[in-house]
Amino acid sequence: MIPNPFDQPHRRLNALTGEYVFVSPHRTKRPWQGRVEPNAPTSRPQHDPQCYLCPGNVRANKELNPNYDATFVFTNDFSAFLDDTPSADVSRHPLLRAQTQAGTCRVICFSPRHDFTLALMSAVQIRPVVDVWADQVADLGRKWKWVQVFENKGDVMGCSNPHPHGQIWASDFVPNEPAKEHIQQQKWFKENGSPLLLDYAQAEITQGERIVAQNAHWLAIVPWWAVWPFETLIQPRRQVLRLPDLNSAERDGLADLLRRLLARYDNLFQTSFPYSLGWHGAPNDEGDYSGWQLHAHIYPPLLRSATVKKFMVGYEMLAEAQRDITPEQAAARLRDLTEEHYLHSPNCRVTASTSVSAPVLRGFEDVASMSPLHATTEKWLRI
Ligand SMILES: [Zn+2]
Ligand SMILES: [Zn+2]
Repeated sequence: MIPNPFDQPHRRLNALTGEYVFVSPHRTKRPWQGRVEPNAPTSRPQHDPQCYLCPGNVRANKELNPNYDATFVFTNDFSAFLDDTPSADVSRHPLLRAQTQAGTCRVICFSPRHDFTLALMSAVQIRPVVDVWADQVADLGRKWKWVQVFENKGDVMGCSNPHPHGQIWASDFVPNEPAKEHIQQQKWFKENGSPLLLDYAQAEITQGERIVAQNAHWLAIVPWWAVWPFETLIQPRRQVLRLPDLNSAERDGLADLLRRLLARYDNLFQTSFPYSLGWHGAPNDEGDYSGWQLHAHIYPPLLRSATVKKFMVGYEMLAEAQRDITPEQAAARLRDLTEEHYLHSPNCRVTASTSVSAPVLRGFEDVASMSPLHATTEKWLRI
């Protein structure tokens, strides 16, 4: 019998993909020598005349954005997929296989306000975003087998425009990640007679230690198998196959949960928290998807502060995913934060605390020239 087995190096199985993540909790006991830089807040105008997503502005293809007052959807002017690509096997050799693939890409503006993010919006303001996600999946799902709804937020995630927006890429094939999840969910359903993620949610509710936020309809969990330091999984409490299947109360509940969870993320390092957020629902054809459960993944790269991100290098690239801070520690950190956004606090007084308990920064620990950890920096912010 191993004492405190989860204090020891161990691998955890991602039941949703069938892949493992290697957890090294003992590394968090090492001193941290990286640099923590106070994160200067940036103020943005409500409308930016140079922004190609703001209402009334002209986009790169010379089209004029309408004066929209909630959400706005348009076909991406620089689409990765093309609608009219003919389908063909263009393999050159059994080891040089390829197919042409058709698809389409759209952009969704979440708000006309250039200075907003989902984390700064109210549940009432987020609800139209939930509706447009569902409507887009219903619309594109009539033609395309897979509709990937996602948001890349922040420079560090490669998002060049700060205007609150997301994307949809629709295609006639199921991509790698949902394809793995399909196999695992159908296998579990066949063997156990119930959806994998509903059984998983029940286990998390029983244990409680990885749940970050919840309401009558939704759960947000740092999953048992999380790879990114503060990764979360969002799912409804009942079985729902796709976003358009959510009823009105569930859509309100999702808007509420997103507001609360994303405020916690921003509060963690008192920064506009970068992430990739995306939805996985059952594919849009007549296949057997009885084991599927709608869910969203949020993959934030930050590890230690507003400027220190986790790198997926070395062992991750060559062997398998690895993390130091345990999912339980990450969930506790997020759970301990207020759900009031720090920029909405009554006097906007911000304590940019960088003295929180320090998980080790992998990849930086031997950079001797970096200054030691600063204590606490206090700033006053206004919005
Ligand atoms: Zn804008
Ligand atoms: Zn998924």
